[in-house]
Amino acid sequence: MSTSREVLWWDASGIDGVATRAALEIDASFDVVIIGAGYTGLWSAYYLATLAPSLKIAVLESEFVGFGASGRNGGWLAASVPGSLSLYEKHGGRSAVIELVKAMIATVDEVLHVTEELEIDIDAIKSGCIRIATSAAQAARLKADVAVEQMLEVGSQGWRMESVPEISERIKIPNVVAGAYTPDCARINPAKLVIGLAHAVEKLGVKIYEKSPAEKYGVGYVDTAHHRLRAKSIIRATEGFTCRLPKQTRRWLPMNSSMIATEPLSPEIWREIGWDHAETLSDYAHAYTYVQRTIDGRIAIGGRGNPYAYANSFDALGNTSEETIASLKLALHRFFPATQAVAIPFAWSGVLAVPRDWCAGVSYDKTSGLGWAGGYTGQGVAASNLAGRTIADLVLLRSTAITALPWIDRKNRNWEPEPFRWLGVQAIYGAYRRADRIESNRSSSGSALLARFADIFSGR
Ligand SMILES: Cc1cc2nc3c(=O)[nH]c(=O)nc-3n(C[C@H](O)[C@H](O)[C@H](O)COP(=O)(O)OP(=O)(O)OC[C@H]3O[C@@H](n4cnc5c(N)ncnc54)[C@H](O)[C@@H]3O)c2cc1C
Repeated sequence: MSTSREVLWWDASGIDGVATRAALEIDASFDVVIIGAGYTGLWSAYYLATLAPSLKIAVLESEFVGFGASGRNGGWLAASVPGSLSLYEKHGGRSAVIELVKAMIATVDEVLHVTEELEIDIDAIKSGCIRIATSAAQAARLKADVAVEQMLEVGSQGWRMESVPEISERIKIPNVVAGAYTPDCARINPAKLVIGLAHAVEKLGVKIYEKSPAEKYGVGYVDTAHHRLRAKSIIRATEGFTCRLPKQTRRWLPMNSSMIATEPLSPEIWREIGWDHAETLSDYAHAYTYVQRTIDGRIAIGGRGNPYAYANSFDALGNTSEETIASLKLALHRFFPATQAVAIPFAWSGVLAVPRDWCAGVSYDKTSGLGWAGGYTGQGVAASNLAGRTIADLVLLRSTAITALPWIDRKNRNWEPEPFRWLGVQAIYGAYRRADRIESNRSSSGSALLARFADIFSGR
């Protein structure tokens, strides 16, 4: 497999200090071994090393730091809880869900605060997030979801509906019929975060081995092709790649998400679009798109493209089909007609993990010393920080407010075997796309029946 660091568009955008690290070439013993050098693995290492400086910690990475979704995502540092609040409520009760929502909101500031302290420049701007609806059905869903979030009463912040003129003060998008806004989100450069974090943990004494895929692990050990690491605690932080580990094939579905990015836009185009505060942006379609204004004046826009490849056979390098690029271009031009003639030099894809019930989790068994965190369903930029903090507390046997959150130790069933898994995902996303087309062509506010079936079938 070619592992050019240029598979990461964000990386190619000019980041200093991309190090190359040695592979594991000896057998060795540590206190904690973490598999995966994305945000989850590195935040876990960071908090462990900070709370217990004497711990010997190693991170094993199959390719290089940030090779996974952490180096390629849309850069929304958002307070959203991955998955359904009502499912977390079933596991932990209502007050625990409220604590989870509050903890996620606080996590946005935690990431901004720690990165500032560590002098990691991640191009952050905390201007919040805008959701827009461009059909009556999208507007009805948006209002209903904002009402649910407001009912949680987690403080004066959180989501609120904004009028169409208020939204257009922020950003000019044609055909907006409703909008909502939350201040609890920051735009960041995702690759700068993962690369900066890796340097930070190394300064704290954590050893990172690149080009060192873990082939199997169990109580007290992790094996690469030629070497064995021993450790009391072993944390799996492999997100979308988890399906490639032994006995994990059906645990989390590896879902693709794809992005394109424009060249830097001219001042005239920016005047037409507005968007002076660079809030993150998404629509409220079933197959939604997410957008950021980058620090160098590009638009980066993403969506699900081809969501799932048969039998977990995703392209780890993130090559992106012409069809996916064309559909993202269409979305770009629909949102921002002024970009019709703008060049789109970058397209890439990454893989994220979707548990069967679409809810993320954290787990650590103090008897075996085995733990994991992830399944963020595409919302892991902030959540991975909370997960990393939680892993650190669990490994150190600290009982804290976050070790009681309702995403800990949740049981989740496996995905169906093939071909049912592939057929199911094709059917679900086919239904969502069809429902989006139906909804955009009519004025009724009811969600297309197809989408409601797809929601039930997908287990969301
Ligand atoms: C295109 C895209 C856009 C996204 N946009 C957003 C967004 O805007 N906001 C948001 O909140 N979330 C977003 N996400 C999701 C977010 O990026 C992820 O949830 C988050 O990065 C997960 O971090 P992680 O460390 O758990 O996983 P990853 O970053 O995937 O890291 C896992 C690491 O483990 C390594 N690995 C795998 N197997 C092994 C092995 N056997 N041995 C050793 N190493 C191994 C991989 O190489 C990888 O580096 C997006 C995802 C994608 C793909």
